Amino acid sequence: MKFHIITIFPDIFDSYLNESIIGRAIKNKLISVKFYNPRDFIKAPKNNYRPVDDKPYGGGPGMVMRAEPLLKAIEKAISKIKNKKKILIINFIPSAEKFTTNYAKTISKKYTDVILICGRYEGIDARVDKILKTKKLSIGDYVLTGGEIPAMILVDCVSRQIEGVLGNFDSREEERVSSSEVYTRPEKLVYKGKKYNVPKILLSGNHKLIENWKQKK
Ligand code: SAM
Repeated sequence: MKFHIITIFPDIFDSYLNESIIGRAIKNKLISVKFYNPRDFIKAPKNNYRPVDDKPYGGGPGMVMRAEPLLKAIEKAISKIKNKKKILIINFIPSAEKFTTNYAKTISKKYTDVILICGRYEGIDARVDKILKTKKLSIGDYVLTGGEIPAMILVDCVSRQIEGVLGNFDSREEERVSSSEVYTRPEKLVYKGKKYNVPKILLSGNHKLIENWKQKK
């Protein structure tokens, strides 16, 4: 799976993509992540100031990301992709359809290349969506300052659907009974004079009862 990220802040991704499971997946060439900065697609005037944004039509606070540099950056990404039929272009919008694990699974099966547009300010000129027929996705009912964190979330969630990325493919939570209430050693934890024990059922060795307990949790 190849991710192509359209962002004016590519450095934001550095540490996340270099660490842990995602870092290993990139090193092992199971996934790749490339960046395209819309600023690089603006002809620099004499003063070298290259605005990617402009005032919104109809007024209102904040700026809007201009269509042309975005379209050029996306075209550049598309030009590097062999199978044009297996490209998905995503624009992140807080009020759009919610991104889910199920949709991450669909992406991992149907597409080879995902182009992720990271909006900033008031968002991107809506004509980009119309021209490219983007898929609009939200990562939740809250507003962030930009689409970079949503893009990282999508890269992470889709990557763990790719065989070989997780040490054990079947360890994906959605493929087994899992609980968010988990414990490890010590069996008896003493904190500020009070004892906190691991639930007895988890020490019973009875897998059936443990599965039932997890399901209930
Ligand atoms: N004015 C926009 C609106 O009302 O929908 C919000 C703009 S927000 C400050 C800037 C950018 O952050 C958005 O264009 C989007 O790319 C990203 N963003 C913020 N929150 C998001 C969320 N919950 N899900 C997906 N993207 C989000």
